[in-house]
Amino acid sequence: MRRAGKIVGRLLKLMEKEARPGITTRALDKIAEDFIRSNGAEPAFKGYHGFPASICVSVNEEVVHGIPGPKALKSGDIVGVDVGVVLDGYYSDAARTFSIGEVDEESRRLIRVTREALYKGIEQAVEGNRLTDISWAVQSHAEAAGYGVVRQFVGHGIGRNLHEEPQVPNYGKPNQGPRLVVGMALAIEPMINAGTHEVEVLSDGWTVVTKDRKRSAHFEQTIFVGKNKPEIVTE
Ligand code: MG
Repeated sequence: MRRAGKIVGRLLKLMEKEARPGITTRALDKIAEDFIRSNGAEPAFKGYHGFPASICVSVNEEVVHGIPGPKALKSGDIVGVDVGVVLDGYYSDAARTFSIGEVDEESRRLIRVTREALYKGIEQAVEGNRLTDISWAVQSHAEAAGYGVVRQFVGHGIGRNLHEEPQVPNYGKPNQGPRLVVGMALAIEPMINAGTHEVEVLSDGWTVVTKDRKRSAHFEQTIFVGKNKPEIVTE
């Protein structure tokens, strides 16, 4: 998982560099697939329940699971890139949201708060805490900023499969659910909306958008629960 995670982390750095006005989301997907395969790994999303690409690219009001296509990014967009990699049977999964060109202050704040919410959640991934301590840390940070926390999609356990038990919601009262133990592998992934927390799926069967079409941001890391400090696998 560490080796897979290193590829994911390096790829997201590359995506940040390549995501510029004028590039199509399909071109980003091609760069990502080539990078993953040239590192001896495989894209975990490609073919997953029929998903047609190696990355999910979600622009502006798209929350998650956007399908790469002929649409070009333009200045002012915000774009979430989510990628999973499998190497020698083990998975790692992460996402970041990038600003394209000149982005308004409101969108920059949404991105900043979502990233902060992820790290508030990660901080809770230590032995002795319970699962929803992560959830509550994410929710309380995002809602204090006035944002909506997506309920319909959640984080997850990860390891020999892309998605494993337990589900890791980004909302919920603290001190519930399984007790965290050292080495437990979780993908923590807040999806935070500028407006309502409600989402819907477009007719392509994949793309999740906000119900009010306001913008959304998404950050994710695969982590190992630690004794005093979690280990981030996908940095
Ligand atoms: Mg994930």
